[in-house]
Amino acid sequence: MATTRRTAKSTPAAEGETAASPEVHPDQQPATLDACRRCALWANATQGVPGAGPKRAPIMMVGEQPGDKEDLAGLPFVGPAGALLDDALAEAGVARKEVYVTNAVKHFKWTPRGKRRMHKTPAQREVDACHYWLERELENVGAHVIVALGATALKAVLEDPKSRLQDSIGTVIEHGDRLVVATYHPSFALRAPDPETRQRAYAAIVAALQDAKKLAQRHKK
Ligand code: SF4
Repeated sequence: MATTRRTAKSTPAAEGETAASPEVHPDQQPATLDACRRCALWANATQGVPGAGPKRAPIMMVGEQPGDKEDLAGLPFVGPAGALLDDALAEAGVARKEVYVTNAVKHFKWTPRGKRRMHKTPAQREVDACHYWLERELENVGAHVIVALGATALKAVLEDPKSRLQDSIGTVIEHGDRLVVATYHPSFALRAPDPETRQRAYAAIVAALQDAKKLAQRHKK
């Protein structure tokens, strides 16, 4: 698939800024990500980043939002967190090409620090607005097993802003006709302050992927 190179935007409007408030239509039903104005995140991102993977897949992995590299590439999980996820998938014996990978929020939310664009956690209203797209992916891909990578993804997948990652890790949650396995976001396994926590988070991600694989195999039989 051809990837269009674009230049990163470098002048975000501060949150709450009114003079240059971007166009927002919460009830819009857009046909494409680039036309989406359901929340304000489109305005400072380079492009919308859709999910990637097979049209139909037994497992879907959902992260939080695109990072700096994903925003530029237009592809999910291609930065450092994606590399860690690839390692975890390999260790769990799951082929990435057989898994659909996406994010709860499709535009990169960031704040400037010097010349760098630093990740900023999306607000619940932005997660809710973007559920429009996640729901479509869930329906189209038809995955029976969903791996929620981190707290934002878990809330988005369960459509429950009160769900807590810590209460859900290591459990399988039945959600309608899907099974949800919750684990840490790969960025946490990269950036946790101490090596023990990073190692534990990585092991939990591998374990979650192993569980997802077993659940998907059981569902296939
Ligand atoms: S983050 Fe989601 S809801 Fe908000 S503009 Fe982008 S695609 Fe639309």
